[in-house]
Amino acid sequence: MARFTTRASLARLNKTITIIGGGLTGLSLSIALRKHAIPVKLHEAGNYPRHRVCGEFISGVSSETLENLGISAALSDALNHQSVCWFSGDQKLRETTLQTPALAISRFLLDQRLYQIAFANGVLIHTQSRHATQVDACGTVRASGRIPSPGSWIGLKAHIKGIIPSANLEMHSGPIGYLGITQVEDGWHNACGLFRIDRSIKAKQEELLPAYLRKNGNHILADQLQFAEWRNDSFSAVAGFSLGNQPYTPNTMCLGDSHAIIPPFTGNGMTMAFESAEIALPHLIAYAADQISWQKACYLTDKHLHKHFRKRLTASRFIHPLLFHCASRHLLRHAPISPILSLLR
Ligand SMILES: Cc1cc2nc3c(=O)[nH]c(=O)nc-3n(C[C@H](O)[C@H](O)[C@H](O)COP(=O)(O)OP(=O)(O)OC[C@H]3O[C@@H](n4cnc5c(N)ncnc54)[C@H](O)[C@@H]3O)c2cc1C
Repeated sequence: MARFTTRASLARLNKTITIIGGGLTGLSLSIALRKHAIPVKLHEAGNYPRHRVCGEFISGVSSETLENLGISAALSDALNHQSVCWFSGDQKLRETTLQTPALAISRFLLDQRLYQIAFANGVLIHTQSRHATQVDACGTVRASGRIPSPGSWIGLKAHIKGIIPSANLEMHSGPIGYLGITQVEDGWHNACGLFRIDRSIKAKQEELLPAYLRKNGNHILADQLQFAEWRNDSFSAVAGFSLGNQPYTPNTMCLGDSHAIIPPFTGNGMTMAFESAEIALPHLIAYAADQISWQKACYLTDKHLHKHFRKRLTASRFIHPLLFHCASRHLLRHAPISPILSLLR
């Protein structure tokens, strides 16, 4: 990673960085830039707080990364989860323990907290402000999440109460997808799944979750969800995206999901959002201090992102299809979990 600019030169920094997208990438980057006294404008198409499709299970993030970005406080009371229970269809296959605990916190709470920290630190935030994303304007960072594409996936999520999972994280797999259940704050459990789009499913809104679970052979869980309490407005759905590296535009700095989307079963997408902000930071500081051009900042960041994420993106690309394969029961029951997880971060 490039060296940080010295304090003496910080006083001369005056270039504004514009960030498109106020998700985890955009908000954490904006906070880190403000720590270095760089003016930041952030455009967010939506508002805060709001529920988002996300498993809310953060695997592999280091305390050093959170510290470097200045966002440790936002995660200080996140739950620590270590036990994982795997199901295929209605059958319980295996219980495992993660070597390092994962963090769990709702996006409703986490994004709101980061927004508040950013605002308090002088980030100029424009909510309900949809900015053009096809930009190569100098100093404009694209952190607007997945790049729309005719992908074959649908992500569904809701917060529920009234089920008692057998581990901190339950993973339910089947031939068309998987769904994770994890406890977040205030006694709510987050149920979030990724499924191949099935046009024969005619359900709408909340009904989609149990309908996809039934199609996936997770009938017991589908029944449990239908009788559970659902948190108001927490149901969310997303479609129209592709996994893996996103299309690249030269001279544009694309971070987080705008750079690459790792399959959600890894629980590593949020870690990648934070790490991509951390990777871009020294290059943006050098650009703001007039030490490098915008083109060079984009080039160096992109090169570093590819190098840093290559191994986990490649490993997850191979493992992801196996979760849907007819042999997945065997794999989930017998595969050595720890070495596989270490490939995914
Ligand atoms: C089904 C599913 C489950 C997942 N589960 C997990 C998990 O358990 N653990 C994990 O670590 N990761 C998980 N992820 C991935 C994780 O949610 C993402 O990697 C993470 O949210 C990426 O953050 P981001 O800031 O790059 O993008 P986002 O969080 O998508 O933020 C992008 C922001 O940009 C805004 N925006 C978009 N376009 C514009 C525009 N034109 N102008 C202004 N603003 C704009 C959006 O409103 C949004 O707020 C999951 C993803 C899916 C689909």
